[in-house]
Amino acid sequence: MLNPGATCAKHALSNAIGTCSRCGSFMCIACAQAGLCEACRNRLPTSEFVACPACQSQTAKRLNFTWWGGALGPRLLTHVKCGACGVTYNGKTGRSNNGAIAAYIVIVNVVVIGLVILLGLLD
Ligand SMILES: [Zn+2]
Ligand SMILES: [Zn+2]
Ligand SMILES: [Zn+2]
Repeated sequence: MLNPGATCAKHALSNAIGTCSRCGSFMCIACAQAGLCEACRNRLPTSEFVACPACQSQTAKRLNFTWWGGALGPRLLTHVKCGACGVTYNGKTGRSNNGAIAAYIVIVNVVVIGLVILLGLLD
């Protein structure tokens, strides 16, 4: 818990709203982003992916496996997950992948059904 009188480590006049999840220093509302203070955010290795559309965090990691696309789908769509807030999105465009995922599922189903029909005809 924060002391009621705690102030930001950088801004002595601003009340602290929380502590940095990495270094533990007090942060004001201007400093706190994705649970980290400004210094720690700058120290983070910049992700190869664009910033999270929900929280602007640069901590996205590629998803290696998803229920909808197995191992191939997330690779094709550059599907990444924000390390700070957990939102998944396209690591190249910073936009939601939901439309692309729906299209991917439809295409996979069409291919699978097509193969089943083809195999049925060959029988
Ligand atoms: Zn920090
Ligand atoms: Zn501050
Ligand atoms: Zn995020």
